[in-house]
Amino acid sequence: MTDTLTRDAIAQKIKRLEYRNMAFIDGHFVPARSGKTFPTLNPATGEVLTEVAACDTEDVDLAVKAARRAFDLGVWSRLAPAERKAIMKRFADLIDEHRLELAILESLEAGKPIGECFNVDIPDTANTIRWNAETADKLYDAVAPTAPDVVATVRREPLGVVGAVLPWNFPAMMVGWKLGPALVTGNCVIVKPAQLTSLTTIRIAELGHQAGIPAGVLNVVPGLGSTAGQALGMHPDVDLIAFTGSTAVGRRFLEYSAATNLKRVALELGGKNPQVVMPDVSDLKTVASNVLASAFWNMGENCSAGSRLIVHRSIKDALLDEMLVQLETEWKTGDPLDPEVRLGALIQKDHMDKVLGFIDRAKAAGLTALTGGEQILEETGGYFVAPTIFDDVPTDAEIAREEIFGPVLAVIPFDTEDEAIAIANDTCYGLAASLWSDDLSTVHRMSAAIRAGTVSVNCFSEGDITTPFGGYKQSGFGGRDKSVYAHEHYTELKTTWIKVG
Ligand code: NDP
Repeated sequence: MTDTLTRDAIAQKIKRLEYRNMAFIDGHFVPARSGKTFPTLNPATGEVLTEVAACDTEDVDLAVKAARRAFDLGVWSRLAPAERKAIMKRFADLIDEHRLELAILESLEAGKPIGECFNVDIPDTANTIRWNAETADKLYDAVAPTAPDVVATVRREPLGVVGAVLPWNFPAMMVGWKLGPALVTGNCVIVKPAQLTSLTTIRIAELGHQAGIPAGVLNVVPGLGSTAGQALGMHPDVDLIAFTGSTAVGRRFLEYSAATNLKRVALELGGKNPQVVMPDVSDLKTVASNVLASAFWNMGENCSAGSRLIVHRSIKDALLDEMLVQLETEWKTGDPLDPEVRLGALIQKDHMDKVLGFIDRAKAAGLTALTGGEQILEETGGYFVAPTIFDDVPTDAEIAREEIFGPVLAVIPFDTEDEAIAIANDTCYGLAASLWSDDLSTVHRMSAAIRAGTVSVNCFSEGDITTPFGGYKQSGFGGRDKSVYAHEHYTELKTTWIKVG
């Protein structure tokens, strides 16, 4: 890995940057059949980066046909697992080799800080594909405990054609989380990136092709949700939709499935995640730095953002004081291409206005922002919102209940452990939670009581590639991203029952 993250390296790379902005179908870049395009913008400046192919029903159908053909020919699904592993490892290596280029694309199109893209998002994408690749020839299927006159094998088989529909907040990571398990289990995939962030996904597909993934196995159809997304959801020859995005659109995919071929639907949806801080914590500095990271990482545009700080009343003010100091000194906001910046731009003006709407309504309801509460850096033309903390938020306030998907933290005090658990679970979501306590028994009791897919204790974490990621309740169902558990929703179980003569 030769790339380093310096201002000079970034400037040099940007000069030579070429945008891949067409669909990628059956191993070729192609324009949309209609010839239509849509602009994709840099949210830090409001400027158009390029025009992207606007795929619709016809393009999706071409991609599904290419994927089905590749699947039926067995050019991928019937490779020896070790061969799939080798190609996927090359794919991961190529992502690593293009780390800076991909990090810049990701930062330019999504407004994300380049340091995060370079140090977290792109390496995580490569690592996810590599880790899944390694499982190809290490997981065994089963022989059932039948009577001696029968041999019954239970094998996992690929589903066939998978549609992956992605959100805009982690474009590269989400493509990795879907492609890793889908490809290693032998499926052919059509990816529909979010219209706001297509560029990294298209480039990653090209690198996959370069690594040796056969034509038709990995396709990308950029376009709008209401056109390309719906066409994929409704297509009668798609076997699974693996979706990450909002709960509202997740519901739509269930409707598409019910109205068509009962395709499987795996949903990773939203969250309104609690961070519970118990009064026995001794290291408030560490708690403060993790609470801030959980709330404001990726500008709060994160399904696992800890947007509710549920803190014991006796330590609330001391913790908030420490957080305000760290926010001031350690959280530089501004140009996402500056390696020192930790808070970049929100994804688009409409989304910024939505976030500011939540803030304005909270103020109108009498809540006080301890810090932030407004748009900043307007002179850049970009969509920046100051990190915002509201203190003493009632549990029924809009900002304590709705997923804001922006840098807004609601602080909710509590007095007893039971009250803390009740507040943490008082949400229709259950994606992630953090718990802070120095007492082992408290940790065991409370982490069991909190209803969330991942409870991180004394840290802010989504786990790593070895642990499943996904939610309880309306945060999704039908599958988990990451770990070998993810393979389950990309495979069918096939029983072969052999009578022994
Ligand atoms: P959306 O649900 O709006 O969009 C997700 C994808 O669905 C996009 O590709 C979008 O297309 C597409 N889409 C939109 N409408 C339709 C439709 N009617 N039919 C078919 N497809 C459609 O989510 P966002 O992109 O705004 O992402 C934010 C959401 O994602 C948040 O709620 C967040 O919590 C959740 N999320 C969950 C994660 C998890 O792992 N649980 C991880 C990351 C985010 P387009 O935008 O191009 O129109």
